[in-house]
Amino acid sequence: MTARQAYESLVAHSRESADLGAALSLLSWDQQVMLPPAAHPGRAAQIGALTAILHRRATDPRLGEWLAACEADAPREPGTPEAANIREWRRDFDLAVKIPEDLAVALARAASAGQRAWEFARKENDFKAFAPHLQELLELSRRKAEAIGYAGEAYDALLDTYEPGETAASVAPILAELRDASKALLEAVKDAPAPKPLPAGPYPVAAQQALLADITSLLGLPPDASRLDVSAHPFSTLIGPGDARITVRYDAADFTKALFGAVHETGHALYSLGHDSGDGRHGTPMGEFASLGVHESQSRLWENQVARSLPFWEHVLPLAVARFPALSGLSPEELFAAVSAIRPGLIRVDADETTYNPHIVLRFELELALVRGDLAVADLPGAWNEKSREILGLAAPRDAEGCLQDVHWSMGAFGYFPTYSLGNVYAACLFEAARAALPGLDAAMAAGSFRPLLDWLRANIHEKGRLSRPRDLIAAATGESPTAGPLIRHLQAKAKAVYGL
Ligand code: ZN
Repeated sequence: MTARQAYESLVAHSRESADLGAALSLLSWDQQVMLPPAAHPGRAAQIGALTAILHRRATDPRLGEWLAACEADAPREPGTPEAANIREWRRDFDLAVKIPEDLAVALARAASAGQRAWEFARKENDFKAFAPHLQELLELSRRKAEAIGYAGEAYDALLDTYEPGETAASVAPILAELRDASKALLEAVKDAPAPKPLPAGPYPVAAQQALLADITSLLGLPPDASRLDVSAHPFSTLIGPGDARITVRYDAADFTKALFGAVHETGHALYSLGHDSGDGRHGTPMGEFASLGVHESQSRLWENQVARSLPFWEHVLPLAVARFPALSGLSPEELFAAVSAIRPGLIRVDADETTYNPHIVLRFELELALVRGDLAVADLPGAWNEKSREILGLAAPRDAEGCLQDVHWSMGAFGYFPTYSLGNVYAACLFEAARAALPGLDAAMAAGSFRPLLDWLRANIHEKGRLSRPRDLIAAATGESPTAGPLIRHLQAKAKAVYGL
């Protein structure tokens, strides 16, 4: 077999797996959005069957032979899409075969049982009921890290599966810088008058739906290639080419919850739709997202840098007033200030832009200690509150609002949290670079034109797929290695505008 034939075999295999993966995504979307309650056990079996088929395909020994044939061929120009595909197929294949089947099955079972136990434990505020599951997931995750291998420490192997190239040592200084900047900003605004909250409504759900349809298509989400539905936990999923689906949750007392949720998920959807520019990269690594951090940078950029900006509200406020008379009389400045208020709280998913990253620091330090074996599972609630007081200045009165608030650890997702802060950091780096590259961007947004920004993101991030590792991808787009600087400048500028510092 020639290297060319091997490469074509890899493309065909990869694409078929992607199409089977699309069927899996559709089953899962349907489960969360449409499925009648009695159909859940059957659906779990269907999802399990497809997942097993996909796992078998990912570890197919022929992949190893095809890859070896490609790699033995004259080295391809590094940095070309073909070279990137081969490198990323190798990464995926090695990762899949390194984890023994019995461990993969044990992890999947423990994650499913862990999630059910966590739901119960959170509802009943009963950490002890969840602790044995957390213990098991931790032990299995350590085994997974050993199976994958690492240069520094076990945590690095887990983090690398979400964010290629990152380690505990590489993310720690960024997180510490964000924690300190957030603390300084909180201190600076503590005596300043808080922005006026928005009127209490009413914000009828039908009117919210209509406004979201306007806004998502204004931002560039094509109505003929997307859907907007309702689910208990908002999410975004790409079913396949030309089929990006997002969900939201409506609150009739606060239209901004669904609005920022929809804009966030629209950011994810625009990224997913942007991989495929119709040149056959669908189903290959070049047609996939680079990392969780890069995915989150796209949702956060549209949510925070765009939809929590004054130019955005200059254009959108009249659209909102037309749907909600309660907002009439408000200025764009007042709306911008209300959605940019700094309000420290216990719950990560409700956190504002400034206090969000310290929530990640808290989780990162605790999960690192758990994986290292420096913190016993039984001691987690106490350690959580101690660190929470130190980092956020708050302690949770109940574990349900403390160490039991997030689903991630119950699924064995250790090393996932830092990708949220990396997403925030990358979003700010990209937006600063886009603003420099697109003079008049603010004026364009105030006039309702978001196309120049989307086109810039398409060319610099979306169409690059997995061409390079996340940090290199951001560096190539912005012209410099990513740092926390742009995000800190963004937060400082907002505090200045909103609190008049
Ligand atoms: Zn997201």
